[in-house]
Amino acid sequence: MTDITRRDFLGGVGALVLSFAHWSEAYGAQVIDVRTWPAPEYTRVTIEHDAPMKFRYFVLRTSKPVRLAVDIDGLVLTEQLRKTIEKVKPNDPYIARIRVGQNQPRVVRITVDFKTDVDPQVFSLSPVGNYKYRLVFDIYPAEQKDPLMAIIQKEESEPDAIARLLKQVAEGQKRMEENREEFEEDQIGALIAGISSGNLAPMKPDDSLAPLTPNKPSKDSGQIASKPKESPQANKRPSRSGRRVLVVAIDPGHGGEDPGAVGRRYRTKEKDVVLAVARILFRELNAIDGMKAVLTRQGDYFVPLQRRVSKARAAKADFFVSIHADAWIKPQAKGSSIYALNNRGKVSTSNRWLAKNQNNADLIGGVNIKSQNKQIARILMDMSFTAQVSDSMTYGRRILAELSRINTLHKSRVQQANFAVLKAPDIPSVLVETAFLSNPEEEGKLRTAAFQRKLACAIGNGILKAFKKKATLS
Ligand SMILES: [Zn+2]
Repeated sequence: MTDITRRDFLGGVGALVLSFAHWSEAYGAQVIDVRTWPAPEYTRVTIEHDAPMKFRYFVLRTSKPVRLAVDIDGLVLTEQLRKTIEKVKPNDPYIARIRVGQNQPRVVRITVDFKTDVDPQVFSLSPVGNYKYRLVFDIYPAEQKDPLMAIIQKEESEPDAIARLLKQVAEGQKRMEENREEFEEDQIGALIAGISSGNLAPMKPDDSLAPLTPNKPSKDSGQIASKPKESPQANKRPSRSGRRVLVVAIDPGHGGEDPGAVGRRYRTKEKDVVLAVARILFRELNAIDGMKAVLTRQGDYFVPLQRRVSKARAAKADFFVSIHADAWIKPQAKGSSIYALNNRGKVSTSNRWLAKNQNNADLIGGVNIKSQNKQIARILMDMSFTAQVSDSMTYGRRILAELSRINTLHKSRVQQANFAVLKAPDIPSVLVETAFLSNPEEEGKLRTAAFQRKLACAIGNGILKAFKKKATLS
């Protein structure tokens, strides 16, 4: 039983009552599953149930530890339910333990004890995809640990983002011109040769040629920043400290509650495959001097689509790549494809279907709509896509060309669709469908480390080549 008394409630703050209109006494809900998704950014606890439930929750900040109590009406505590909830072993940055008790007849109380001060959000989701009703607790730290999330919280808006980016691009072009005058060698070519060589870490800092920004500013401490080094070129030229690095935001699709596509033969989950590819790409790009990669998610947890974009903006990304694996009704469909945002004109029906499904990720992954509204409104307001779309196409074509060397192409041209994740007005963005999980042969390949590496290197090479094209053509 719980040891929280009525007095604790009176002392607490943030009491909130939510209810559902369609709940009926006669309809007893059953809990189907309880899941946790621990992550540094936030932890999610999901209670999946087969019918609507009435619940209330209380945050007890005055208690030590801080507690969340959730009362669920119309639920009888069975031994089975107790086991389901208490089996949850929260090896978790925020949750100390979860308990469950029959608070009153037909009211089950779930109590969550926290390790630190937190901001829990509790909300419910209607059935979608393979899921029934879900009661979701998102546990955010009162103080953000994820540096990108901290920046997002601080910088509510960046009205001058586009102007700043244009300035950065102009500076990049100038820098590239200077570099070209000084060196005859095609250094990016050498980098690309290196990254294509297929070794596990082909781009060690010491054999990279640092074509763009030899001196990574020391204050720039990326998550896995490459070591500062002196290359022959750097010695040839006065050091230009304070130069910015080229930042690539890598977005592994789906995660947590949202598995994405699931393979036919081995039940491979898209969220796992794309995270593996993204991690390789992250390591490879970070090993190149003058480049910095950031990941929009680093583990198996869900990140809402707009927050993925916010993270890229907070990292001041020059380019955003979202990595996915495709699925189609027919198992024969195969090959890689690339999508860029389409801000006008016609979009083919299948692209519309796909965009709808990718955007549904927020519904399946589970988004607290209220907390998203403000951000979505802001992003919709300052959308200015023309430059972004044309840059995105440049990146898309280069990456597609690289993918064609390692896999069949599903579509030989860059496709255009309206993915929410591509809607960063100031960051060129593409979505890569690596291969089809619904195709048994490609599912088999996607599971292998070798193919994951090939995909990561193809995407990386495409990005490097597009950077080069952008910087040398004016
Ligand atoms: Zn996907």
